[in-house]
Amino acid sequence: MDSKLYTQPDAGPVTQSPQTAAGPAPVASQATKETLEDYTLRFAPRSYRRWTPMVVATTALGGIAYMADFSIGAGIGLAHGTGNALVAIAVAAVVIFVTGFPLAYYGARYNIDLDLITRGSGFGYYGSVLTSVIFASFTFIFFALEGSIMAQGLKLGLGLPLWLGYLVSTLMVIPLVIYGMKALSKLQVWTTPVWLVLMIAPLVYLVATDPGTVDRFLSYAGTDGTGGVDTASVLLGAGVCLSLIAQIGEQIDYLRFMPPKTEANKRTWWAAVVMAGPGWVVLGALKQAIGVFLAVYILAKVGPEAAPEPIQQFRSAFDAMMPSWLVLPLAVALVVISQIKINVTNAYSGSLAWTNSFTRVTGRYPGRMVFVLVNLGFALALMEADMFSFLNSILGFYSNCAIAWVVTVATDIGVNKYLLKLSPLRPEFRRGMLYAVNPVGVVSFVAASGLSIALYFHALGDTLQPYSPVAAAVIAFVLTPLTAVVTRGRYYLRRTTDGIDEPLLDADGNPSATTYDCHVCHQPYERPDLAACQTHDAVVCSLCLSTDKAGDHVLPARPSAV
Ligand SMILES: [Zn+2]
Repeated sequence: MDSKLYTQPDAGPVTQSPQTAAGPAPVASQATKETLEDYTLRFAPRSYRRWTPMVVATTALGGIAYMADFSIGAGIGLAHGTGNALVAIAVAAVVIFVTGFPLAYYGARYNIDLDLITRGSGFGYYGSVLTSVIFASFTFIFFALEGSIMAQGLKLGLGLPLWLGYLVSTLMVIPLVIYGMKALSKLQVWTTPVWLVLMIAPLVYLVATDPGTVDRFLSYAGTDGTGGVDTASVLLGAGVCLSLIAQIGEQIDYLRFMPPKTEANKRTWWAAVVMAGPGWVVLGALKQAIGVFLAVYILAKVGPEAAPEPIQQFRSAFDAMMPSWLVLPLAVALVVISQIKINVTNAYSGSLAWTNSFTRVTGRYPGRMVFVLVNLGFALALMEADMFSFLNSILGFYSNCAIAWVVTVATDIGVNKYLLKLSPLRPEFRRGMLYAVNPVGVVSFVAASGLSIALYFHALGDTLQPYSPVAAAVIAFVLTPLTAVVTRGRYYLRRTTDGIDEPLLDADGNPSATTYDCHVCHQPYERPDLAACQTHDAVVCSLCLSTDKAGDHVLPARPSAV
């Protein structure tokens, strides 16, 4: 590319800082290379979104093969009994579905990931760094979980010591993640049928050949032995399931590649968004219930210590239906396939979330590979520290923050945008367009997660402790509209125009596909990813705005100070 053609219009009275004049080329070209692969720190352009709605949905659902659901369900079931576990799973699923819906819609309709949605849905440009870090921690906690499950499988199947299994399950993901999402979606598609058969077949066999397993499952009363359904047990269990609420972020990492919604495709478009968006939890809840079933089934044989381990659950299930020489290899295959399917996504999404936070805080874009390693380092440390045994308590604590975040963003979209009209309907993620911090989301998120964590650690007594996830959800739901009313919605947008005449959305309400060249990195980007730079009388892309440390690029029409 001949950069002279593009730098020409810049010549003139504008004085650039020496840094900018000499510095940006390598940074920008590296940024460009990275973005062409995954478009993560920016809007996903229409030119790249060539898949049909159903292909996007299938790919997105491929990522939720993870096995943690089986042990989460088992953990709740063993502690509180089948009745409480099933109600807890259902309650959590309803909350996850309802809050996931607006987020999935925004991701698919406006083609941005959950962090970009969060910025314009009450948090502000720097405010959402908080939630990005939470999302990044979600990815490495779950990576560690899945890695532990795989290490248990390798130990049982190949006699590998756990510490080595942890290392193997971490290192093997790195080469896969380097190839990015295009390669990962191929992996998802061909592994899904194998995975489905291995998971469903033993269950169908057990139920068909021994109906008594269903009765024993339904009447299992838990280790406390009381049985039935009680509020405290349900809420404790739901709290653990709700920690998965942040999974919607990984679903949106795929859903943002949805094609434009048109008159012709609107039915399949909606079906795909609902299925692969909030609908992930239907499959998730089903896996948790299967986890309870299998744990109860193997409890007498392996004891309460090993019953939540998916490798044990499936080994016993396979054992009932096939010759013994086939059992271990198949159980190990199931665990390894599931683990790879989810952990490439965890490693990938985590690296993106870290890169995203780092770039905003420091104004530098080091490339996401550094953060693949950082994220995997955290996960490996957690595994070597034997976190699997503390699974439920880690998830219970984590879920308070995750719930506070997702409920805040969902409420901002559902209530502040659509009902109160205090939050701008159109999403906004560009630096300069947004305030650094919007009190609406930040206050409600900090209050909701802070108070619920206090509850979780018994600060308000033992009676209220189980209610911490409910508190997180209710506080976020109430405070988000309240702070918007109090601040009169003034801190969403810093300016009302980005200085480009063409509207962001076309006549159908889809993001416009017209391209403009960014005057800093000299690459063409679609309309929603750019803003006019007054300093240089040209347009600048969102990533170049993010990495503009010297503040060279000033957007037009600052409104009077508020
Ligand atoms: Zn640029």
